[in-house]
Amino acid sequence: MSALDLAGQQVTVAGLGVSGVPAARALAGLGAVVTVVNGSDGERERAQAAPLEELGITVRLGDGDTLPEGTDLVVTTPGWKPTSPLFQAAEAAGVPVWGDVELAWRLREPRAGKPAPPWLAVTGTNGKTTTVRMLAAILEAEGLRTAAVGNIGVPLVDVVLSDEPYDVLAVELSSYQLHWAPSVRAHSATVLNLAPDHLDWHGSMEAYAADKGRIYEGNTVACVYNVADKATEDLVREADVEEGCRAIGFTLGTPGPSQLGVVEGILVDRAFVENRHKQAQELAEVSDVTPAAPHNIANALAAGRALARAFGVRPQSVRDGLRAFHPDAHRIERVADIAGVAYVDDSKATNTHATEASLAAYEHIVWIAGGLAKGATFDELVQKSAGRLRGAVLIGADRGLIREALARHAPDVPVVDLDRTDTGAMSEAVREAARLARPGDTVLLAPACASMDMYLNYNKRGEAFADAVRTLAAQEQ
Ligand code: ADP
Repeated sequence: MSALDLAGQQVTVAGLGVSGVPAARALAGLGAVVTVVNGSDGERERAQAAPLEELGITVRLGDGDTLPEGTDLVVTTPGWKPTSPLFQAAEAAGVPVWGDVELAWRLREPRAGKPAPPWLAVTGTNGKTTTVRMLAAILEAEGLRTAAVGNIGVPLVDVVLSDEPYDVLAVELSSYQLHWAPSVRAHSATVLNLAPDHLDWHGSMEAYAADKGRIYEGNTVACVYNVADKATEDLVREADVEEGCRAIGFTLGTPGPSQLGVVEGILVDRAFVENRHKQAQELAEVSDVTPAAPHNIANALAAGRALARAFGVRPQSVRDGLRAFHPDAHRIERVADIAGVAYVDDSKATNTHATEASLAAYEHIVWIAGGLAKGATFDELVQKSAGRLRGAVLIGADRGLIREALARHAPDVPVVDLDRTDTGAMSEAVREAARLARPGDTVLLAPACASMDMYLNYNKRGEAFADAVRTLAAQEQ
């Protein structure tokens, strides 16, 4: 079925929310007969439903399981599990299920005499948003019309239907979105890294990896993998790509041919140069990347060097774009320096993989951690990071799991266990951390856990940390 055939088709949208609402609007605009189904039925859902109903869209709240009679197509939002009864009913009835990204891909059309813009696509367990934003900054520095879109909060459906004549899109895709997007064919794509996450949704690590790997299918120019993460290279090998598409690795070490890497503080390209066996092109300095933490340099290599260069961007624009880029809040954000101690907010480190990268970026750390563990274990993380820990302050519901891992693998590290989950807990955590820190150390909020036991989201947790640090700074003056 082509998107152009949607007029008069009965389309069921699974889920309201950031991608369901724009998808429903877009479908109604194309003349489809749209029903949105949503399991929960509360005040927020009713507020979202009202403007849709004004457009003639039917919204069925309180039943997300039953497939509406006569459905020709289901368009799902990313949160719905593949095992949902609605999809089983669709399968039994022979009705196709598309994700919001699949819908967007099929709606692409030439605009203002230009062909539909190609997609440079990014996925991975961690670093997607940062990499996509870096990529967009580099493409802009080249003078291209572009946007950072997708899982980043800008619905793809709105972007492909807008009149803006984009040259190229920097697209963040989650594993959920990739699961339901079989037709997407990126110009070039990367899987930044692969660590266990969201396994309850995907069912297994194999299924999670397979969904991530879908991003390489049909790439035309470059499949970019992480040399340090063999699983990403395996996914490239398994992908069915267009003839001539190259596998390009990125590494924090010296790059081999067809790789991008780092030599003496310089980001170097040995992939997109005339004679890659003999030559290397300097693109930027490590100090052009903010923050210059190892994992972030890896993101810069994937974004700038590999994806942007695959698109033909000049080396100078890579440097200018990286210099112009500033990371989003709560991602290794230096809040203040007090009495020679740096206070860094990485509240977005909600899993152990992100936290491991964060802890690797500093030499002596007082670590503030804890929250909802989501089934994670902390032994490996603590083992790898023990040598850097000056101390640890633990907060939140599952802090006992981290405390036990510290007792097993870092028994000499002083630990403060805060047995409170009220909103004032962060102030006490920061005060305790300050007490443990010595000049030259870093107090790092990198919780390795979700925030919802104490805060609305990771943003609020990061703000509580920053507020507590500012209060401490005022007291020190
Ligand atoms: P995502 O969009 O994949 O969640 P973000 O760019 O928002 O990624 O970063 C999420 C967290 O992961 C942050 O805490 C950040 O410090 C960490 N992080 C960023 N890039 C990487 C990377 N390449 N490897 C490991 N952790 C990373």
